[in-house]
Amino acid sequence: MSVPSQKLLRLAGVKGMNDILPEQATLWAYFEEVARATLRAYGYQQIRTPIVESAALFTRSIGAATDIVEKEMYCFTDALNGEQLTLRPENTAAIVRAAIEHHLLYDGPKRLWYSGPMFRHERPQRGRYRQFHQLGVEALGFAGPDIDAEIILMGQRLWDRLKLKGLRLELNTLGQPHERAAHRAALVEYLRQYIDLLDEDARRRLETNPLRILDTKNPALQDVIRGAPQLIDFVGEASRAHFETLGRFLRANGVSFTINPRLVRGLDYYNLTVFEWVTERLGAQGSVAGGGRYDTLIGQLGGTPAPACGWALGIERILELLRENEQHVPHESHCDVYVLHDSEAARMQAFIVSERLRAAGLQVVQYCSSAGAPARFKTQMKRADASGAAYAVIIGGEEVARGAVTIKALRCSADAARGSAAQQRVAVEHLTRALFDTSTGAHGVESKG
Ligand code: ATP
Ligand code: MG
Repeated sequence: MSVPSQKLLRLAGVKGMNDILPEQATLWAYFEEVARATLRAYGYQQIRTPIVESAALFTRSIGAATDIVEKEMYCFTDALNGEQLTLRPENTAAIVRAAIEHHLLYDGPKRLWYSGPMFRHERPQRGRYRQFHQLGVEALGFAGPDIDAEIILMGQRLWDRLKLKGLRLELNTLGQPHERAAHRAALVEYLRQYIDLLDEDARRRLETNPLRILDTKNPALQDVIRGAPQLIDFVGEASRAHFETLGRFLRANGVSFTINPRLVRGLDYYNLTVFEWVTERLGAQGSVAGGGRYDTLIGQLGGTPAPACGWALGIERILELLRENEQHVPHESHCDVYVLHDSEAARMQAFIVSERLRAAGLQVVQYCSSAGAPARFKTQMKRADASGAAYAVIIGGEEVARGAVTIKALRCSADAARGSAAQQRVAVEHLTRALFDTSTGAHGVESKG
């Protein structure tokens, strides 16, 4: 019996989880480099934690009645030992977990940063993915508003270095837990009067997380919300002073902001300062970064209570803004020299020459054939051109016989303008020197006639 020939199924990536292709990776690397340098300027140290944590870490910290825990987490049972695990939806809880586990605060407060993929089961759309990337900072063990100001200034400096314009900073204070509780009671009482106007989501939240109702995007609820009791009216003297000092620090350093009394953020662990950087340039996904103070989280997760604050930015959203002003992004050349060969004997020489150039610190790409024999020089030269290399190094039969190579300038460079030969043959042992000399405009190499 003959088996019907089966077409092989082509597999696709998981919905909402993106490949970052080489041409995009350049921009990612640029962003990471600028961010790293900025964070270093403030003395923040990198920390790397696993992407999988126990599910309880997030339910206990983010809060059971939040969007993330209610519907966005990727949870699974470890088939080997039955543990309940989660792909991290954010990283603050994990950093706090690691800090407690490794006694990081034993010898004083810590300034930390992290970067990596996060996972939320959301409806994929522009700026909203299921695997996305955050870069964040966490200042653990600091109580004063000066550190709130420090992390905000650090964000502002990052936007400046990236030449990102049009990000608006919104600030609010949530007060302390008991102040929030008093506001919550008043809010629930107020909203109950309008129960008929509330949508299904808001009715459910009335019991679980009424503060989040203030954050609703439903236009029909905006009138009700405008008249709701404001948290700021329940916030005590000390909390207000913290907020006012933060404002003074920011103004003294030229950071402008607006106070948004409705900014509550989608995680339960915040108190006092919360903030977000928003833009109008990304459509519905206007929040590019956010954070705040979480003075109770360390204690809540079993550590010795200590104050803390931090923020996280969404790398995809920042990169989308960067792409809009691409003129600012430096082009990253991945190749100085492209090495060509035309035969088996020349191929060996090409290998040796390429390694020699790399040892001298140059970025070298070597032609390798896609079939058996090397392609014609003309075809190879097209690849050399496309590589962005400044020079081609050509090794043919004649070069092998003479222990030489031919250098060809591929770009209209300064030395060409000065009248240097565009193509020169040099002995192999003088190649590195010749390349460095050529690029600085010096002479002393044999010109090919
Ligand atoms: P949003 O209101 O857009 O859902 P959020 O309040 O859930 O954002 P945070 O938890 O504060 O976001 O995370 C900080 C940043 O991470 C956001 O400002 C955003 O830039 C980014 N971010 C959050 N969720 C996603 C996602 N699903 N895809 C891409 N970026 C995201
Ligand atoms: Mg969200």
